[in-house]
Amino acid sequence: MKIITILSVFLTGLSLYAQPSVPEDYFSSPLEVPLVLSGTFGELRSNHFHSGLDIKTQQRQGLNVLATAEGYVSRINIQHYGYGKALYVQHPNGYTTVYAHLQKFSPEIEAYVKKQQYANETYEIELFPETGELKISQNELIALSGNTGGSGGPHLHYEIRDGSQRPMNPKLFGYQIKDSRPPIINSLFAYPLDAESHVNNSAERQKIRLIPLQDGSYTTEKIDACGNIGFGVSTVDQQDMAPNKNGVYKVEASVNGDDIFSIKFNRFSFAESRHLNQLIDYEYYSSHKSRVKKLYVEPGNPLSVYDNVISEGKLNIEDSLDYNYNIRVTDFSGNERLIRIPIRGRNSGEIQPKKINKTDYFVNANQAFAAEENGIDFYVPAGSLYENTYLDVKFKGDTIDFHTKETPIHKNITLGFDVSKYSPADREKLFIARLGYGGRPLYTSTYKKGDRFTTGIRTFGEYTLAADVTAPKITPVNFSDGQWISSNHNLRVKISDDLSGIKSYRATVNGKFILMEYEYKNNTLTHNFEDGVVTETENDFKLIVTDNVGNSSTYEAKFFRKN
Ligand SMILES: [Zn+2]
Repeated sequence: MKIITILSVFLTGLSLYAQPSVPEDYFSSPLEVPLVLSGTFGELRSNHFHSGLDIKTQQRQGLNVLATAEGYVSRINIQHYGYGKALYVQHPNGYTTVYAHLQKFSPEIEAYVKKQQYANETYEIELFPETGELKISQNELIALSGNTGGSGGPHLHYEIRDGSQRPMNPKLFGYQIKDSRPPIINSLFAYPLDAESHVNNSAERQKIRLIPLQDGSYTTEKIDACGNIGFGVSTVDQQDMAPNKNGVYKVEASVNGDDIFSIKFNRFSFAESRHLNQLIDYEYYSSHKSRVKKLYVEPGNPLSVYDNVISEGKLNIEDSLDYNYNIRVTDFSGNERLIRIPIRGRNSGEIQPKKINKTDYFVNANQAFAAEENGIDFYVPAGSLYENTYLDVKFKGDTIDFHTKETPIHKNITLGFDVSKYSPADREKLFIARLGYGGRPLYTSTYKKGDRFTTGIRTFGEYTLAADVTAPKITPVNFSDGQWISSNHNLRVKISDDLSGIKSYRATVNGKFILMEYEYKNNTLTHNFEDGVVTETENDFKLIVTDNVGNSSTYEAKFFRKN
């Protein structure tokens, strides 16, 4: 009896993890408009899974954002990039909700933040208010929606995190979003997975033609295969009220009726998110910009979104046997799309083996590797690459042509440049650049120490030394020197830098710090007169902007205001 009890507790624990048991009527809506999504939980993004819902705000900013349950503000984070202005509310049941890309906070929170921004003389700030400081009741107005940070258009990014700060699928908490359409299949691929295996007489990835059937499902022509193979699928989901192509909830696969693989987006941790690069066919993504989910698990892939995986999701195809491989793609509302793939085992002897470009730089993924030539060196820490790789490296002058962007990097690789041949004055203007489209130098965060510059990189490509000798440009937008601007609500200035980029800015009026909010998407700095720091009639405005190698510009102007 005891054994049965223990076993059943164990099993319950397991199933809880697969399908978290969560309160379904605890959280209310963060907006007063119908919930229409431009992004779903677990959606595949650049180097990460999307950690919440992107809720559309009718193409505008300034919609009321409400706390979805009682609690207190536990964190406020303001960044130029990333989440922009973000608010975190801690709830008594252990969950945290996150509201991001906000335009501004409620008056009480806004005053709290401004006080700290002025005290620290900075726009970017991270605050952790005390438990009782900013208490919030359910449905209380906490902010206005916006487009701050890395946001491609006005929307609210909304997250629910568990007690370990792992984001969970908010839809598990009972949010109703109308969706009657099944997921869309963009493409299907088959992969021979070892030296002996093949698909349709090839050792390379094969695109498989999808044949639509009347009931909405797909089939394919019979695939000839041999040895270890796997599949990959590119798929999106559309909900009813919007054309946005969002992520799907679940992908499952079976062979001859036995389940062998599933991915489900209920919860993940930020620490594992970058392993998305192992879940997708990264090589295909880097050349086609389409993310194909591999329906098998690569060695050393720790992602927790996999569930119920048998033999890594791979099929072992034996000669002259027939197999039925099925893929089922499901959205959160349970609409599904099926693909039925017939496979025939065929051992067809002479297959051209997959080409491997052997070079002098063989990196074992589990071991560190270092090399140097021409005063340029690189260091690949263990675990930087997902698989053993021959790096294709060419050194020419001050440039290293470093492998190919088709290989993902998990942990920073260090690049070092010997700059002893440059004078100290020249060194000041130099930085390590990645060469972008058309050879345009893009600044990488350069650490300078004596004769050596270093940087950490997470993309292969061409890197070189570049010089930035031009200081940032400063242009006033809604005022000019000597002007009366009593009716202006704010002071706006455009700033830009030609090469290394803006590093910092500082503005004062009559020698006193004024807060200016930087919006990188339109290169604008804005000071709001509501802050109440500009109180004189005659005012001397001064702005200093510095780029990443230390070139700086100063702009000064006098303006007048009736107070
Ligand atoms: Zn988002």
